[in-house]
Amino acid sequence: MHSFIRPRAVMNSTRTHYLLALSLWALAACGPAEAPTEMPASDAVMSATADTPPRGRLPDGVRPQAYRLDLELDPRRDDFSGNVEIDIELDNPSTRIWMHGEGLDVTAATAVLADGTEGAASYEESPVTGVSKVTFVDQLPAGTFTLRLQYRASFNRKLAGLFKVVEQGESYALAKSESIQARKFLPGFDEPGLKATYDITLTIPAGYTAIGNSPEMDREHAVEGMETVTFATTRPMPTYLLSLAVGPFDTVERAEIPPNEYRDRPIPLRGFARKGRGGDMNYILDITPRLVEKFERELQRPYPFEKLDIVAAPQWPSGATELSAAITYREQSILVGDYPAPGARLALLGLHSHELSHMWFGNLVTPPWWDDLWLKEGFATWSEPVVLTLFEPEGGHELDAAATSINAMQLDSLASTRAIREPIADNDEIRNAYDAITYSKSLGVIHMVDQYFGADQFRPALGRYIESFADGVADSPDFYRVIGEETGTPALTETFRSFVEQKGVPQLDVTLQCGNGAQPTLTIQQSRYKPLGSPIVDDEQRWNIPVCVLSDTGAEQCLMLTDAEQTVALEGTQCPQWVMPNAGGSGYYRWNLADAQWQSLARNFSVFTPVEALSIIDSAFAAFEAGTLSASNLMQVVQQSAQASQRQVIVAPLSYLRKYRWNYLTAADEPAFLQFAQTLYGPVLERTANSGNSDEQLLHSDLLSFMALTAKNPSSRQQLRDNAYAFTGFGDDRDADALDSDQYTAALIVAVQDGGAEFLEHLLAVRTEFDDPRFESSSASAIGRTNDAGQLSKVRELALSEQLGPREAFSLVSNSMIEPGLREQNWQWLRDNFPAIVARVPEQWRRSTPRFGDVFCNADQLAEVQRLFERYGNLAPGHQRSLAQTEEQIQLCIALRERGRTLATELSGG
Ligand SMILES: [Zn+2]
Repeated sequence: MHSFIRPRAVMNSTRTHYLLALSLWALAACGPAEAPTEMPASDAVMSATADTPPRGRLPDGVRPQAYRLDLELDPRRDDFSGNVEIDIELDNPSTRIWMHGEGLDVTAATAVLADGTEGAASYEESPVTGVSKVTFVDQLPAGTFTLRLQYRASFNRKLAGLFKVVEQGESYALAKSESIQARKFLPGFDEPGLKATYDITLTIPAGYTAIGNSPEMDREHAVEGMETVTFATTRPMPTYLLSLAVGPFDTVERAEIPPNEYRDRPIPLRGFARKGRGGDMNYILDITPRLVEKFERELQRPYPFEKLDIVAAPQWPSGATELSAAITYREQSILVGDYPAPGARLALLGLHSHELSHMWFGNLVTPPWWDDLWLKEGFATWSEPVVLTLFEPEGGHELDAAATSINAMQLDSLASTRAIREPIADNDEIRNAYDAITYSKSLGVIHMVDQYFGADQFRPALGRYIESFADGVADSPDFYRVIGEETGTPALTETFRSFVEQKGVPQLDVTLQCGNGAQPTLTIQQSRYKPLGSPIVDDEQRWNIPVCVLSDTGAEQCLMLTDAEQTVALEGTQCPQWVMPNAGGSGYYRWNLADAQWQSLARNFSVFTPVEALSIIDSAFAAFEAGTLSASNLMQVVQQSAQASQRQVIVAPLSYLRKYRWNYLTAADEPAFLQFAQTLYGPVLERTANSGNSDEQLLHSDLLSFMALTAKNPSSRQQLRDNAYAFTGFGDDRDADALDSDQYTAALIVAVQDGGAEFLEHLLAVRTEFDDPRFESSSASAIGRTNDAGQLSKVRELALSEQLGPREAFSLVSNSMIEPGLREQNWQWLRDNFPAIVARVPEQWRRSTPRFGDVFCNADQLAEVQRLFERYGNLAPGHQRSLAQTEEQIQLCIALRERGRTLATELSGG
């Protein structure tokens, strides 16, 4: 799923950039700071002795095979009811089993044996949230039995489990189960490895749509304006992929996706959006058949389900979730009309290919437990650029992917980072795994392997891995084994293992030796990268790293670096002018060189490919933050990046520049920073101002936002403000074309900051009028950015009111911490009202609330953050990981202060 949620899916773009810069927004986070990595995941299973409810995985020996679920589900009401029968396989005779259920009112429980005998049973929820115990009056024999439960429950109103939303006066019910929320509406076995088939019958208001994981087979009249809908039996699936969407949806019927050489049957394709919005789904429905076919071709495997529904869900708490055959998106991600703005279009393409990829990675082959989340999320993230590059070769998707994996290195540089695969012993830790490490580092590692060992070797092996485990489960050892056998390349498996099982970014220190006509050599040392002030201890960690180097005197040379230090003889006898230690740019590592070598790289910047340029920029900032590269050498690299032609290269330094601007530059430095930014980016802004090229339009939006919000350039601000006024009809008639959705957030922030009480009043009045969820969401972020103390009481009232959705409330509060002018006041308010604020945000995001403090850069405020969570941590279960990362982030920010100040000297020409 996309609970992340890549950063851009969580929040509007401005906030995302800022968080990436300032704090390594880990897509979700929490848990004890460091889980001991040597503890086997199965400890969780072993600890669940007879009468202790398991805090993590359920005990072995009890497996569901089939569910028959029959619910009466009317979204206009506040609750729902029904019954479920579960066929269960028992390995040993038993008088009780553990299963899942949370907040369910179970009114009857019966066990039915294979011979039809019925026995009494009782169901009760245990002290461990979400875990329940079923006790049988008579001991059940080993073998198969059926558990029959009758129950009722309330619809959730905080976007978790089976939740209800009301939009434009209409009620909708939607199931959002990943990771462990199916237990809020279904008593069952809510673990990814416990796959079973489902036969679902729903009794719903007559004429309403019901969207399941399998085709609707039958619909008949029931009582009093209700109808009963029966769905076909599903393939074996885990609970987290269940779709139960009911409401007055618009249905958009499309032509079937025709059969091809991999699939002998057509796939019915439909779109669903809330009432009145079906017409905005054309873009995603138009591209879907081609994308599905690309996946089938690349994997040489058919799309695995009987139909494909694309659902635009109001208020969906993550960017999208890969519900089998009923992929469900936050509506603003896909209701883009026929001509989406460039950034919105790119985000849609990435999201959609990610979710389609899950139909194989995750849905057909499922990780047995959340510690192997990367096997679905890493592969789905990696397949995005692979398939999109086939879809539109000039789209720059590989460059976007390279930037994404480099972003993960910021989080991975912390001592408090995770390994891609780490044991998860407690249910509260599950959501920790949904972070940039699982998504973006996995993308980088898989890409490195694919490039080094060759797509022609790796990808067919991947298809055979899918085939081997179809309809079942596979963990990392299964993956390593099959990929190793299929490719016959043990080094490939070892590379995976060393990056997946270990945390941290490898740092390569590269030394060039030349002398007196002798063959020049490169000595490469590996260690774990650590920035200034880092608590990382050097414990001689080693990776198996595929390294390729390039110099101006010879061809690319590659080696597998496994030792602490290895030496490579370069071709020829001439001493090279420059050496590039990540040729091709696909290595997941950072590198460093002597000063003279850095200067030489900067001088020759234009000879490198865009992906190599991204590696140079990243390693330059990393070396600056580690205390080894000077501000002046760093600025040479930044200046070169602004001369590049690709958007991704030009914008790569922006997140760092934002961080330095906010944390290390004072008001006295502002004119110099503005001058610097104007010199670098003014010409690019001018060149791209009226471009017809969508990538240049996106570049223009990104730079305009940077100039207006970070450099405070008056003309950029005026431009955005005027557009926001025109778009919202402030003081004149509304011009709906004045602003594209990529610019909503930046333009509204400027308008809120410059437009005073009148504009804020106006925005509050119109924000829901346009029925544009993207605009509503951007406006919530922008309102949080007010810099007028006189408006604060109104803003805070809004934050705590039901006028904002839960996600919007979170955005407003985090944005209120950004502007330094009111930060102290807002922080005080946040601490005073923390319980009320936590109650307003989505349940799954509460663990991330320590990140409200990630804007800080001093010890007093660090202590305040710590005190806040000592007091209220229990309101945000699983917040420990996020808190540890926020604390470390603040400490690193403090440690970099002195270096950060050298930039000010550099900017003022000193
Ligand atoms: Zn995903």
